[in-house]
Amino acid sequence: MLTCRNDMLELTKQLVQMESIVNTKGEKAFAESLYDMIMKMPYFKQNPSHVVLAPTVNDERDRYNVMAFVKGTKGKSKETAILMGHIDTVGINDFNHLKDVAFSPDKLMEHLLNEQLPNRVKEQLDSGDWLFGRGVLDMKSGLASHLHLLKYYSEHPEEMDGNLVFIAECDEEDSSHGILSALDILKRWNEEHGFTYVAAINADFVSPTHEHDQNRYVYKGTIGKLLPTFFVTGAETHVGSPFEGLDPNYIVAELTRQISYNPELSNEAYGEVTVPPISLKQSDLKPNYTVQTALSSFVYFNFFIHSWSPKVVLNKLKEQAYIAFKNAISNLEEKYEAYCAMSGEKNQGLFWKPRVITYKEMEAQLVKEHGDTFTNYMNKFKKSLLENKELDTRLFSIKVVEKAWGWMNDKSPAIILFYSSLYSPRVITDNETAKGKALITALDEAIEEMQPHYAHPIVAQHFFPHISDMSFVALNDDNDSIEAVAHNNPAWGTKHIVNYDSIRELNIPVINIGPYGLDAHKHLERMEMTYSFEIVPNLTKLVLEKLLG
Ligand SMILES: [Zn+2]
Repeated sequence: MLTCRNDMLELTKQLVQMESIVNTKGEKAFAESLYDMIMKMPYFKQNPSHVVLAPTVNDERDRYNVMAFVKGTKGKSKETAILMGHIDTVGINDFNHLKDVAFSPDKLMEHLLNEQLPNRVKEQLDSGDWLFGRGVLDMKSGLASHLHLLKYYSEHPEEMDGNLVFIAECDEEDSSHGILSALDILKRWNEEHGFTYVAAINADFVSPTHEHDQNRYVYKGTIGKLLPTFFVTGAETHVGSPFEGLDPNYIVAELTRQISYNPELSNEAYGEVTVPPISLKQSDLKPNYTVQTALSSFVYFNFFIHSWSPKVVLNKLKEQAYIAFKNAISNLEEKYEAYCAMSGEKNQGLFWKPRVITYKEMEAQLVKEHGDTFTNYMNKFKKSLLENKELDTRLFSIKVVEKAWGWMNDKSPAIILFYSSLYSPRVITDNETAKGKALITALDEAIEEMQPHYAHPIVAQHFFPHISDMSFVALNDDNDSIEAVAHNNPAWGTKHIVNYDSIRELNIPVINIGPYGLDAHKHLERMEMTYSFEIVPNLTKLVLEKLLG
């Protein structure tokens, strides 16, 4: 066993103090400092080409990954294990008056002693076994564990029959440009050094699932995420005659009612269930106040998956949207009837029909109707949108759909369904492949050996419950599923592109052994030191020993 608690504590504090909020200059500065730290280790002084400070690709920001490797000298194996972790953190607005000390755990904890805290938090603060601060949990302490192991093996390459790669990637908290860019270098090292990647170990944070949950979880894979988006067009009318039109906001409200919190849209696999979708933004596209109803509206939802492919989700949501549209119409008809009875107005009948199409279907229809004229027009339009750097991929996609809709011959009210953001695939690491089996066996054995040294149960589950960069080192989806993502994302190929083939080519089995704590992304972010500083590095090392021993 490594006795590394004190080193880990110092290293974590050092990494926390190097502020690295996602999408700020801090990310770049952090990468540069980390690169310098690694370069100071004697092994890397002697082998400077084994460390790279690598810029991200296809990224609007100037930021970097730090990658390094140690070649084992015990045997001739080319098998290579990867330690991966992100360097960025979320922002600190939630710290309010404590912003100045958000990155200084000791000072922050001093301040917290004088704050009103929930009992449980107070106990943890007083126990001396918890560290508070932005990034302590997510995931500077995980990164510290990986860095500690990189240093260890750089001093003991004779213990490895095989190689160790270290990836510290940026932009995990937003768009994963870091890990996606790192894949190219992994491929290059495969060509130059013959590395065959047999396993990746991520060290993102883990949390209990409820208040009395004592388990410390490790994960054999990760949850996936989609951002299904609905563009709704209605029929415009003046506020004075509401029943003559169809308000898109009315349909969107029904969509949200149908989809948000709907357990039918929870995805179960291996007995583990995703939380149902929930809306993340809902708005109409009217630029300012008028007494006309809006022309169009949109809503998008967070959607987690364990086993469903993006194609399956699209089909399910098409069905749900149809139900919502039908409900909206019949509800409206009832209201109209009641209003006519009340006012004595003659009931003319309402003749709206539910209509739901995917973006891919709409585009195909438009190409059929207008051919190249449409395609060329849209290409120019997308190019002009790209100039507005403030526009995120979600809004970019919505604007493309809005513009394309203008070309439709049949403009009767409709819901258009598409994806408007990065698809993070779900990953299952199991015994199906030889590599997967070796990693799972190594993990199971390592847990068994580690458990007697730790008071709380260490429990392996399948799906890491948050979005993580694990999504981008292995791919369980077939081509058809990925095409459903690409062809239904209006930003695909311009504002947004991911080389999923490249992920499939590498297909590295991945697990997560990470620090334990609570309230990541909140101002009471905190980490339990005994598990994070003693168990995490040793458990990770045990897995490495079994893989590369
Ligand atoms: Zn994280």
